[in-house]
Amino acid sequence: MHFTSTAETEIRLTLDAIVELTNSITDGCVDARSTLASRGFPRADAASQASVERLTAKLQTLSALFSALPDLDDATAIAWVNEELTELHIAPSIVSHDGVGPHIHWTPSTDTFDNQVLADLLMALAQELCENGTIRFGRCAAHDCADVFYDGTRNRSKRFCTDPKCASKTHTAEHRARQKAN
Ligand SMILES: [Zn+2]
Ligand SMILES: [Zn+2]
Repeated sequence: MHFTSTAETEIRLTLDAIVELTNSITDGCVDARSTLASRGFPRADAASQASVERLTAKLQTLSALFSALPDLDDATAIAWVNEELTELHIAPSIVSHDGVGPHIHWTPSTDTFDNQVLADLLMALAQELCENGTIRFGRCAAHDCADVFYDGTRNRSKRFCTDPKCASKTHTAEHRARQKAN
């Protein structure tokens, strides 16, 4: 996976992919291929069905970790990710291609799609934990939504998942509660 901008942007977009995959697994409607294709993973469209199925099975397992991130302290999350990293097959190299300057690929281009994606997701999460810990992972504040989100705002002011209904119905409820209190 690669982008024309900085490594930081690449990590951020990969974390967004983790969040979207995790929420769709929780909701029971995961489509790893289309999620990853829409998030700029270049091999997603052409990947074999067997590879997508292997990836989906592994993501089901990993979703226990990903969905718990808002509640985990740094040490616990790091220990859990380290455990997953021991099973990861990576062979990093610095490459330039398609007009994109030098950047790291964690796996060779001959590797399977599922292994490449797992390496991308876990290495992005590992780098995020080193940089910020778990503090930027949050859970939607709407009372009937358990979706997780990644808060990239400067002052960490994000409260809701990407579903606009969660923000609007919560604001309406809070407004009514305030009016009652007055
Ligand atoms: Zn690349
Ligand atoms: Zn929500």
